[in-house]
Amino acid sequence: MFDAIVVGARCAGSPVAMLLARRGYKVLVVDRARFPSDTISTHMVHPQGVSALQRWGLLDRLLATGCPAIDTYVFDFGPVTITGMPGTEASPVAYAPRRTVLDKLLVDAAAEAGAEVREGFTVEEALFENGRVTGVRGHDREGNDSTEKARIVIGADGRHSFVAESVQPEQYNEKPALLAGYYSYWSDVPMNSRFETFVRPNRGFAAWPTNDGWTLVVAGWPFSEFEANKADIEGNFLQTIETVPEFAERLRAGKREDKFYGAAVANYFRTPFGPGWALVGDAGYNRDFITAQGISDAFRDAEQVADAVDAWISEERPFDEVMAEYQKERDAQVMAMFEFTTMLATLEPPPEQMQQLLGAMQGNQEAMNGFTRVAAGMTSPAEFFSEENAGRIMAAAAGSPAS
Ligand SMILES: Cc1cc2nc3c(=O)[nH]c(=O)nc-3n(C[C@H](O)[C@H](O)[C@H](O)COP(=O)(O)OP(=O)(O)OC[C@H]3O[C@@H](n4cnc5c(N)ncnc54)[C@H](O)[C@@H]3O)c2cc1C
Repeated sequence: MFDAIVVGARCAGSPVAMLLARRGYKVLVVDRARFPSDTISTHMVHPQGVSALQRWGLLDRLLATGCPAIDTYVFDFGPVTITGMPGTEASPVAYAPRRTVLDKLLVDAAAEAGAEVREGFTVEEALFENGRVTGVRGHDREGNDSTEKARIVIGADGRHSFVAESVQPEQYNEKPALLAGYYSYWSDVPMNSRFETFVRPNRGFAAWPTNDGWTLVVAGWPFSEFEANKADIEGNFLQTIETVPEFAERLRAGKREDKFYGAAVANYFRTPFGPGWALVGDAGYNRDFITAQGISDAFRDAEQVADAVDAWISEERPFDEVMAEYQKERDAQVMAMFEFTTMLATLEPPPEQMQQLLGAMQGNQEAMNGFTRVAAGMTSPAEFFSEENAGRIMAAAAGSPAS
């Protein structure tokens, strides 16, 4: 009998398993994958995700992999370019470790903390007793079946969550897939510690440095073009890059080192708890990848759910109460970013007011840093785009004293 079984051992699962095991709980974490292994995801980790790694004592391990720091973000909207710093004094930079690197580091940290890690183990049934989840049944790669029981089963099993499918949580704020995105890796495309993104009508792309001296380049178009464009991904990808000839030239000077990977994802919130179960990471909430929030969101969920489980078991607070707090905090923290992300993912021109604001930020480094921190998920869009702050930026651009 475990205190917790965690299904899925990547960005959400391994941290929640690690944090619970560090508090002395008996934890089993399983994944049908083995590690190191890749998954379809680019892997920008904004400064708040980096802060979590630091809090957990794992940042030095990441740095030891040679993953380069990213200290500047550039948003080229065509007529306007915003260049800013994404972080704070305490956590100034981002990193973009390959998932082969990051996920392995997280799995190892869970095992070191004392969690039992079973790789290559597929969960195929959630066990219920009187409407309550009590464990899982699954098999390893040799086909050996096993059944395990726990006080709570935590689904950290991603967008196609088996745990969510089994417990059928309420889904809300749903939006369909809005963007089709494809990425690959190039050598000899120097990025000089910068994340660069380019927004053009109905097209967008971004590039940033990762492990092994490679540069990740991701490009996207509206989901309405997904079917028409999928027959020629490379051609459409390169045409998108050609919308910015200077960058196309930089890319041509490099060499593509991998195939193209792609995805289009639906946007949703799920009620993340019920009798005997909880959901973390993409299993409980998914937003388009255009703002690269998923890994940091998964880290935040892992911390909040580890706290909630601890409060439930050790302080004997009611399960529903601690988990309702988790849901409330999660939703409050991400809602404005969810709206901002799903607006950007349409690749339609931003609303007129936002365009004016972007123009007014030119040359105002403080405002550009503010916008950059919004894109990095450090500052809420609601705060940055508030009438008061927008008014201050417009007034500064018009030369009148900031009110
Ligand atoms: C194209 C794309 C680009 C992205 N780019 C970024 C980015 O730059 N930055 C960012 O922060 N986020 C990005 N994201 C989002 C990010 O990938 C996710 O938010 C993140 O991976 C969520 O982590 P997770 O642990 O919840 O789920 P996952 O990483 O999906 O892990 C789920 C795990 O569960 C396991 N699993 C599933 N079912 C079972 C089962 N039945 N039994 C056993 N194991 C099971 C799977 O094998 C998998 O390892 C991107 C996503 C996509 C699709």
